[in-house]
Amino acid sequence: MARNRPAAGLMADWFDALLADELSRLAESGLLRHRRVVRPIDAVHVEIDGRVCVNFCSNNYLGLTHHPRVVAGLRAGAERFGAGAGAAGLISGFSPQHAATEAAIALWKSAEGAMLLPSGYQANLAAVQTLAALGRSRPGGVRFLIDKLAHASLVDAVRGSGAPWRVFPHNHMGKLGRLLEEADDKQFQVVVTESIFSMDGDEADLAGLDQLKRARPFALLLDEAHASGVYGRAGAGLAAERGLAEMADVFVVTFSKAAGCVGGAICGKENFCRAVLNFGRAYVYSTSVPAAMAASIEAAIGVMRDEPGRQDRVRELSRTFRAALRGKGRDVAEGDSPIVPIIVGSESAAMEMSQRLLDGQLLVGAVRPPTVPRGTSRLRVTLSCEHTEEEIARLTEALAL
Ligand code: PMP
Repeated sequence: MARNRPAAGLMADWFDALLADELSRLAESGLLRHRRVVRPIDAVHVEIDGRVCVNFCSNNYLGLTHHPRVVAGLRAGAERFGAGAGAAGLISGFSPQHAATEAAIALWKSAEGAMLLPSGYQANLAAVQTLAALGRSRPGGVRFLIDKLAHASLVDAVRGSGAPWRVFPHNHMGKLGRLLEEADDKQFQVVVTESIFSMDGDEADLAGLDQLKRARPFALLLDEAHASGVYGRAGAGLAAERGLAEMADVFVVTFSKAAGCVGGAICGKENFCRAVLNFGRAYVYSTSVPAAMAASIEAAIGVMRDEPGRQDRVRELSRTFRAALRGKGRDVAEGDSPIVPIIVGSESAAMEMSQRLLDGQLLVGAVRPPTVPRGTSRLRVTLSCEHTEEEIARLTEALAL
């Protein structure tokens, strides 16, 4: 009977029209996003529409997604603990495996404590929520100062915290210093940045931050998502490699990239971890990462420690690739992070280049606004230690056209 049809059915028409309108607006400006089905074959090869392609757009820098120890950790963990954690960490979702993995993460990062979360995105949310809560109870309140190119998860976390915030130009220590000075002494200021930037593959000015920190106290939240595994002894990160790990008050790391798993962690003082348990809503109100994944993460940290050659190789490949591109006339920055952006400019040019590479069985993602600033659409090439020299040479040639 028509009378019993749910009201939602009536709403669907105008709602659908609204969606279609909004999506076609995006399509017209060349910014409509969509997915494709990509079947992983191994760490660096995928199948798309029946064709095998070399994957140059995964963050699998050390190839650990398919490492036997990492896969075995997941399998054995699932046998022992089941598929899901069943509850949040504060309820019954904190198993002996979670405790063991957190201890391994803390040791790896030389931190007093670590908290494991289901994703790096959530780790950033929980870390910022905790810092905001701590600052709120101070007489001058709290203020966040965030790098212009910081990852969306950091931006969302800071915006969503309800605390005031300011953006400083990318890596601009002079401007950051002035912003820090303009606040009164009672205000709790938190600087938020990344050690290796996700879309540009360049480094934070860690030495500059260290100098600023000596001049005026502030808390530093350093996201090492893309530096973990790739820099520092056993992959402990860029701050560790530079001998500046002490400078950061809170580290966020993800296990979705070099570690080849999924999950994120907040590392810092034991008391900060206790504070996350109380103020980090993204931790408190979400089911724990499965213990099986925690086991896999522990195995990945072990591989990073035992097989340092993986880190050496991906950085060497990056240096060689960058030099080869420069030799072909491409403007590519110095450095050795596995993230190599090739700035194209317009959205349509980036999409066309990405499609041309795919026609040649090379998978390279095009990154467009709002992920990157308008006019800087790019191909974001990411390298893995599992790529062969021949595969990289093929990509270099294709990019030279
Ligand atoms: N921080 C940075 C710098 C990132 O690039 C990402 C992921 N792209 C995240 C955090 C979020 O990590 P995850 O994918 O584990 O949620």
